[in-house]
Amino acid sequence: MIDLRSDTVTKPTEEMRRAMYEAEVGDDVYSEDPSINALEEAAAEILGKENALFVTSGTQGNQVAILTHSVSGSEVIMEADSHIFMYEAAAASAFAGIQPRPLKGIRGSIQPEDLLQAIRSEDIHHPETSLVCLENTHNRAGGAVISAEDMAAIYKICRTNKIPVHLDGARLFNAAAASNLSVKTLSSHCDTVQICLSKGLGAPAGSILAGSASFIHKAKKWRKRLGGGLRQGGVLAAPGMIALKKMAHRLHDDHIKAAKLAQSLAEQPALFVENRVDTNIVLVNIGQTGFSTSRFLQLLKEEGVLAVAFGPQTIRFTTHYEISIKDIEQAIEKISKIVSAKVILH
Ligand SMILES: *Cc1c(COP(=O)(O)O)cnc(C)c1O
Repeated sequence: MIDLRSDTVTKPTEEMRRAMYEAEVGDDVYSEDPSINALEEAAAEILGKENALFVTSGTQGNQVAILTHSVSGSEVIMEADSHIFMYEAAAASAFAGIQPRPLKGIRGSIQPEDLLQAIRSEDIHHPETSLVCLENTHNRAGGAVISAEDMAAIYKICRTNKIPVHLDGARLFNAAAASNLSVKTLSSHCDTVQICLSKGLGAPAGSILAGSASFIHKAKKWRKRLGGGLRQGGVLAAPGMIALKKMAHRLHDDHIKAAKLAQSLAEQPALFVENRVDTNIVLVNIGQTGFSTSRFLQLLKEEGVLAVAFGPQTIRFTTHYEISIKDIEQAIEKISKIVSAKVILH
């Protein structure tokens, strides 16, 4: 199977599995797991923050951040197509009791003028704006990179208004690779950042939440409340360390593969590539083929290619380290076959 559903399907490398076996461990609730401590220290350094916290997932990292930054009854500004708004089962409302304030961005990037309009003034009728969340790369915008300039503009407004900024950087390393910047440069334009070790970086599980020492101290209690206090979690931190140190440099390859896929599919008259492919995600509109997305995905599966539905006429393909250029060539061939079979039927 050529699995292009997501970069989350990546399995741990042999080196990661060995590291899991050999990991030094302790009880992390007592902060005694050497592998978790080492990972948190390394991640804080790479992200340019005082401290970091190993969390079980990206969702948990984002939710711990929202819980730590915000009080119940406040308003959190987020992009209207962001993961936190779309795909975290309203956890921020359920747990933090916040009111989400979605703003439609351009390619996932919240516009400064819209943010200025949305920040609440002091008024008995208004909730207080407690947090702004950004997402880089932006998943629903097709892995779009939010530029350092755009992030800086938002951060400046937020600092002026004394509102913290949380960055959902599930794929921040992809953003950094695509813009030839360090992750530290990008994460300098936010107060707290969440990165996923388990997507393109290939770790079996886990994310990092980074921020100031006082923020992480409070966040640790929220992580515990959410059941994220691990015991001998070093078996997960050890492969996470390899993800952090050894997998980021190769993300550019995934971007080349996605660009190749996009370029070939764009040449097919019945297909339309919806996004500018900045990173490892390609959004393909199949409306003109006459197939429903579910039927198209089923035919693809029969041909040995997996992808996911991403809208009524949209299919998402995501590249990752287990996908070779040869797999991409095969996927292109299979997709072309399905599209042309339909054209003949017409
Ligand atoms: C995957 C993802 C998350 C959540 O990560 P999980 O580990 O799946 O909980 C959050 N934000 C974005 C942008 C993502 O792509």
